Order: sequence, then structure tokens, then C-alpha cells
Amino acid sequence: MYKATLIPGDGIGPEVISAATSVIEAAGVDIKWDEKQVGQAAMAKYNNPLPEDTINSIEINRIALKGPTTTEIGKGFRSANISLRQRLNLYANIRPIKTIEGAKTKYRDVDLVIFRENTEDLYMGIEHMIGKDAAESIKIITREASERIASMAFSYAVKEKRKKVTCAHKANIMKLSDGLFLSSVRSVAGKFPDIEYEEVIADGLFMNMVMNPQDYDVLVLPNLYGDLLSEMSAGLVGGLGVVPGVNIGVEAAVFEPTHGTALDIAGQGIANPTAAILCGVMLLRHLGEKDAAERIYNSVSRVIKNGKHVTRDLGGTASTLDMTKAIIDSL
Ligand code: NAD
Repeated sequence: MYKATLIPGDGIGPEVISAATSVIEAAGVDIKWDEKQVGQAAMAKYNNPLPEDTINSIEINRIALKGPTTTEIGKGFRSANISLRQRLNLYANIRPIKTIEGAKTKYRDVDLVIFRENTEDLYMGIEHMIGKDAAESIKIITREASERIASMAFSYAVKEKRKKVTCAHKANIMKLSDGLFLSSVRSVAGKFPDIEYEEVIADGLFMNMVMNPQDYDVLVLPNLYGDLLSEMSAGLVGGLGVVPGVNIGVEAAVFEPTHGTALDIAGQGIANPTAAILCGVMLLRHLGEKDAAERIYNSVSRVIKNGKHVTRDLGGTASTLDMTKAIIDSL
């Protein structure tokens, strides 16, 4: 039996995370979940968006399945997600973007993996007002953080028999910060002669991504561009409801869907559980439970392709529970 931390999250989080745990259970993998809170649920219970108790649980279990949590815009407590990533040094955010046959989308055969640096850049939250009418945010890039995300991306490419790694940057404008990111990734690329390596300016990448997403295989980006690209890329394969992800470091891995709390549909039982269930697939692969992971992935594909038991965002009328049941029945 495995042990893992479970963070249901806010909004649609509890609905989709319970779908994921029930599918894992039905696939025959025994995980003892230690349920903890982050975000608004934690504020309500402990008046703290990121309780120590939650951090301790993840440190002990080293694995967590997490639903989305609320972040207030332009005010309120600092993003618990960002604090969590920094506290546990979850330095990489990995998002596989893969076409699921049957999912409503304009693109075919997209199969790429985004490695986003997860601890620095403009997201360190170092910002202040200058008087009343100006604000300054500081962008931090270090060689250490840039090399370790690059190493993870190249090692993944080798392990998963991928062919190419693309590094995106704006070193043409931010010559020092993005320049350092670029030179760090380039130095790591030199150690992997069997993997093709290319460098692209981030705006050009976004343009080509919506025209020819099949051109890309593994991508490595600094935090901000990586965040934007991951979200945009979800749109290439059927939307936020179908893209899983993981925040991972040396000590722990926190699996969480790309989507947010979706307050517009929360509590209605209509959220698409696919992203959360595919997080479960990633978690099982991480544990070495490859057979169960493949069975769940194939079952999700079958249900989406069949189209009878899919949620509204995928063009159907099924509830979260109906779709989850169909996935379990098709295992
Ligand atoms: P969102 O992803 O919550 O919603 C965007 C749109 O996508 C909405 O129309 C929503 O209904 C739809 N959607 C999202 N997930 C869906 C699903 N599984 N099934 C069907 N439809 C789905 O993005 P937002 O509105 O920008 O953010 C809402 C909140 O979530 C904010 O507080 C934000 O900070 C937070 N958020 C948290 C995380 C996280 O915890 N990892 C990630 C992103 C956003």
C-alpha cells in the first residue's frame, strides 16, 4: 500500500479529485490518502492558506494529489500554490499536452511536454510600489535553477525517447536575465548530443504553436512564459478540462490539473474530471504502477472517443459522476 497526501482544493477541486481517487481505487491500486487543506479551505479551517501540517504531510509522503486552490487577484494572501512550490522546492512544472482522440479540437497529433521553471523569474513575488503611480516587479534568473530545469527536460527526453528539446526565451530584449537562462540551457544541451536542440524567441514560439503544434516535442521555458504557454497549449488538445500536470522537485511531487477552481460551475457536478484523472495516471507512473496507469489512460481515451458519457466542455451532457463511472466501467 502506498501513502500520499490528498488536497481536494477549492471550487470544483473536491468534485474532480474524488473522481480521480475513485478511478485509482477501481484500477486496483491501494493508496492511503492523508487529506489536508491548502487555499480557501485552509483559510476557513486554520486562518492560514498553507498550514505547516499540510507541508509536513507532503514532506513525509513525498507525493500529493492536489485540486486547484483559490488565489485572489491583486490583493489578499500570497498565492498558496507559489508558496507551496517554493517551500518544497518543486522546481519543475511539467505538463504533457497530448491529443486525446475524440476530444473536440482543431488540431490532430499534438504530443508535446512543457517543462516550466517553477521557482523564480517574475513569479518570486518581489514587487513594490514606487510612490502611488508606479510599481516595480523584480525578475530573478539564476544559472542553478535554469540548469536544473534544463537537465530535467533533457533527461526526460532521453528516458522517454523524445527527439528534440526547444528552449524559448526573450534574450533579444532581456539580454541579462533571459540571456542567462538561454546560456544555461545551452550548456546543458551540450551534454546531450543525441537530442536535437533548438532555441526560439518566445513570441515566435506562440505564433508557430497555434499554426504547427506538431513541430514541438519537449519544451523548456522560464516561469512566466511557461505558465502562459501551458495554458495556451491546453487549448490545442481540448481545453483546461483535459490537461494534467505535476510540480516536482527532488523531495516531492505534487500532481495537479492545469485548470483552476472554475467557480462558475463549482458545486453543479458538471466539471470535467479528465485532467484530475490524468493527474492520477501521472502519479501512478511516478509510483511505477505502469499497468494501472495505462489501463486508466486507455479507458479515458475510449470514453472520450465514444462521446456518450462526456461532460459539457467536451460537447456532451454527462455529469462528473456519470463520466467517472463510464471510465471505471471501461477499465
Ligand atoms: P479556471 O480554470 O478555474 O476556469 C476557466 C474556465 O474553464 C471556466 O469557464 C471554467 O468553468 C472552465 N473549466 C476549468 N476547469 C474545468 C473543468 N475541469 N471542466 C469544465 N470546465 C472547466 O480559471 P480562472 O477562472 O482563471 O481561475 C479561477 C481560480 O482558480 C482563480 O482563483 C485562480 O487563481 C485559481 N487557479 C488555481 C490553480 C491551481 O490551484 N493550480 C490554477 C489555475 C487557477
